[in-house]
Amino acid sequence: MKLLIHACCADCVLKFLESKSEKKWEEMAVYYYNPNIQPRSEYLSRLKAIQKVLENKEVKLIIPDWSPREYFEVVKTEKGRCVKCWNLRLGKTAEYAKKNGFEYFSSTLVTSQYQNRKMIEVIADKLAAEKEVKFFVPKKVCCDLKTAGFYKQFYCGCVYSLRERFEEKYKK
Ligand code: SF4
Repeated sequence: MKLLIHACCADCVLKFLESKSEKKWEEMAVYYYNPNIQPRSEYLSRLKAIQKVLENKEVKLIIPDWSPREYFEVVKTEKGRCVKCWNLRLGKTAEYAKKNGFEYFSSTLVTSQYQNRKMIEVIADKLAAEKEVKFFVPKKVCCDLKTAGFYKQFYCGCVYSLRERFEEKYKK
């Protein structure tokens, strides 16, 4: 069985790979589809960190083009943005999985304490039915793994989340 894992940062990739799973994968690949991430330098820093943590692992890295237009065409306004953003990234991952012979897709978003895991799973299950590919969640997600030695971001990824972080910082 083959698993395609959507990922947006190295920290969550490691947590995902360390998580307990009842399945044995013949092949795993990480799909770095993140048109939400701004600016490009941030997108590249996160990509470099993922490349570093995957260096000695038998996990292929797939890097689609970075196209912020795809994010803004779907998200349009700040309000309700996260649901649309998850839908976009998970939808593209499910499509790629289906086209390329992966029976399962997943996302490192399910390992992040900053994301709404329940909502992400609802969206992913709906997409799985639509795209005819299964959604996988590790049995026990390894959320508290301590990681170091690579770049870590301080905001979720989009311009709105960057602005929120700066607002919080300068409020103090
Ligand atoms: S806050 Fe994160 S999940 Fe929400 S829209 Fe921005 S990048 Fe996407």
